[in-house]
Amino acid sequence: MALDPKKWFTEIFQNEGTGFSLQIKKKCHEEQSKYQFLEIFETETFGHLMVIDSCVMLTERDNFLYHEMMSHPAIFTHPSPKNVVIIGGGDCGTLKEVLKHSDVQKVTQVDIDERVTRLSEQYFPELCTANNDPRAELLFADGIKWIKDAEAESIDIIIIDSTDPVGPAEGLFAIDFYRDCFKALSSDGIVVQQSESPLLHSQSIIKKVHQDMKRVGFANTHTMPFPQPVYPTGWWSATMALKSGSVSSFRKEDIDRRRFTTEYYNLGIHQGALAIPEFMKKILGC
Ligand code: SAM
Repeated sequence: MALDPKKWFTEIFQNEGTGFSLQIKKKCHEEQSKYQFLEIFETETFGHLMVIDSCVMLTERDNFLYHEMMSHPAIFTHPSPKNVVIIGGGDCGTLKEVLKHSDVQKVTQVDIDERVTRLSEQYFPELCTANNDPRAELLFADGIKWIKDAEAESIDIIIIDSTDPVGPAEGLFAIDFYRDCFKALSSDGIVVQQSESPLLHSQSIIKKVHQDMKRVGFANTHTMPFPQPVYPTGWWSATMALKSGSVSSFRKEDIDRRRFTTEYYNLGIHQGALAIPEFMKKILGC
């Protein structure tokens, strides 16, 4: 049965012979920004939906999975995270999660496209509730250049909350960018990158991310798979790279004692995310 394109938004995964559809009530907005084509829909069952260049970015209903896994595991792995930088992340969902940590003193979000943030403020206000936190600074600039110019060893955690590795985000998956991240991170520093689908991209993007991060000097790398229903295959990943130490020595007691709420993340989820599926062990050689 063909889907009526007026009633359904479909993202086709061209090279994979698959796709994902959401039934829509209406299109709320579309515009060509200086950098990308932005669309907002109201869906029947997933709340608002943001699409950039025909790719699903987030929905109201399930974005918590991604935003919590992009932030809390890395923050609870760092011994004393004070200064956090988010590259991309213009919808502000990751920013909101990072600011739940009272020991974090400063969070700088660097997204190339101010329009993403303005649309998020309008259509996803629940993600933007921490934007006026005095610890937050929202900058609109190219994250590649911003990290290149950052002071050496000045950042504790860099979270790369980017679009797919095409267009303005292509360079956020490049070895030169990881080298600049390594330089900008303090000696206990951690970088965490959204690293696409374990099923579709272990052999390509995820393997290359590990190789490149090791090549520039990171001591320990680990990919955490997690569910994300609206992304290709419904299964997504975040890859952490540590300058020193190991992903297995994270702050367990602090996770249990945390004073903020989460919808997905907890100690058991963190421990589970450290397990590596057999097929990924073979591909990544770990
Ligand atoms: N959760 C999403 C996903 O994985 O599909 C990513 C969400 S967030 C909206 C991605 C952001 O990356 C966008 O707002 C985009 O403007 C930003 N971005 C892309 N390339 C960038 C660059 N070179 N520097 C800074 N931000 C960039």
